[in-house]
Amino acid sequence: MLSKKLHEAINAQINAEMWSAYLYLSMSVDAADKGNKGIANWFAIQFKEEQAHAQIFINYLNSRGCRVELKPIDAVKTSWETPLEAFKDTLEHEKKVTSLIHNLYEIAVEDKDYASQSMLKWFIDEQVEEEESAFEIIESLSKVGDNNLGLYMIDKDLATRVFTTPAPLAGKE
Ligand code: FE
Repeated sequence: MLSKKLHEAINAQINAEMWSAYLYLSMSVDAADKGNKGIANWFAIQFKEEQAHAQIFINYLNSRGCRVELKPIDAVKTSWETPLEAFKDTLEHEKKVTSLIHNLYEIAVEDKDYASQSMLKWFIDEQVEEEESAFEIIESLSKVGDNNLGLYMIDKDLATRVFTTPAPLAGKE
């Protein structure tokens, strides 16, 4: 069994992942509205990834015999001045998620809950990638500044992103 503290914290993380999904869906529809189809695609994939993260935690609680309680999802911002602003918000948000995941890991360590530590290691690595990809796009957008051709090229590049099922969900869909 999981400790009550870890059970509640993972349950709260399911809500945080769904809020992340909703935030990225909002960024996707805003980018589409502003004619940036590739950026809209990038955030639509991010939306799917966050839903997958929530599902991984749901599956984990189920596998440990713990009840999942879905809570309301808070409202998200709906408009961003520029793509750069959206990706800066993305990086800031992912840094917060990283600290939430680290907090879960710390509880699992206190509990000497090795199975939970093992499950959380995938998320620790995933967060490194999440922060890195947001940072790289911020760098590119910062370089092109107000250059429309530059933004067009970045948008084309982000249009190529495709969804891949995260490893912990492979074969479980
Ligand atoms: Fe996530």
